[in-house]
Amino acid sequence: MPDFRSIRAEAVVLRHSNLGEADRLLTLYTRELGKVRAIAKGARKMTSRKAGHIEPFTRVRLQLAKGRDLFIVTQAETIDSYQPLRENLTKTGYAAYVIELLDRFVPDEEAATPSLFRLLTETLSRLAADTSTSLSASSEAWLPVRYYEMRLLDFLGFRPQLFECANCGREILPQDQFFSFSAGGAICPRCGEGLAGLQKISVEALKYLRHFQRSTYREASRAQPEADTQKEVEALMQGYFTHLLERQLNTPGFIKRIKS
Ligand SMILES: [Zn+2]
Repeated sequence: MPDFRSIRAEAVVLRHSNLGEADRLLTLYTRELGKVRAIAKGARKMTSRKAGHIEPFTRVRLQLAKGRDLFIVTQAETIDSYQPLRENLTKTGYAAYVIELLDRFVPDEEAATPSLFRLLTETLSRLAADTSTSLSASSEAWLPVRYYEMRLLDFLGFRPQLFECANCGREILPQDQFFSFSAGGAICPRCGEGLAGLQKISVEALKYLRHFQRSTYREASRAQPEADTQKEVEALMQGYFTHLLERQLNTPGFIKRIKS
């Protein structure tokens, strides 16, 4: 007889915390169930065979049993520990950022989104890859992280409007523009004169955002923006995510919007 309360799932461990004397409480993003929490019993004991498989960032194959409130991990096997992410502090930082964005924006028990799971694992693989270039770790991380941010906005329903003015709807021309966090997109110079709280965005930065929005990763990876443009795009995206997160805290309806 198959046990229908037992589920096989593939997951990325988003975070863990201690529970009681010997257990760990895991927050997982799974391909099959979306974001769930699960208990790994005895995972803090020296003799635990699960412990190494459930560290944060690890991609893991799990057997989960449905407990009364939470899932219980009955088996765990590492698929990819993304070891390079643990050995380089800069890479660790970017991986933590990628994980945190997903953790904070995706609510528990939302329906599973296998393509978002794939985006997450592909991004961690890209960050972990040894590209053997002379670039610093933070330069190498720029493209995988920016591409991830852009795709994540699509999944969350906050795809920025970059081709028409988010205020008047006119076509955005190849010139320096404004960007509005609250309107969620580019604002033409004409509208920008009269609106408050806008960010400036250069034509170069806008070009890369548009390119990432429309391209596969392989196509996007041909882009080689100047250092100044990299900084500008990074600051703009972080400002946009921060704005969205504050709205999440202030607006009860936000979670519903993500779900719909
Ligand atoms: Zn306009």
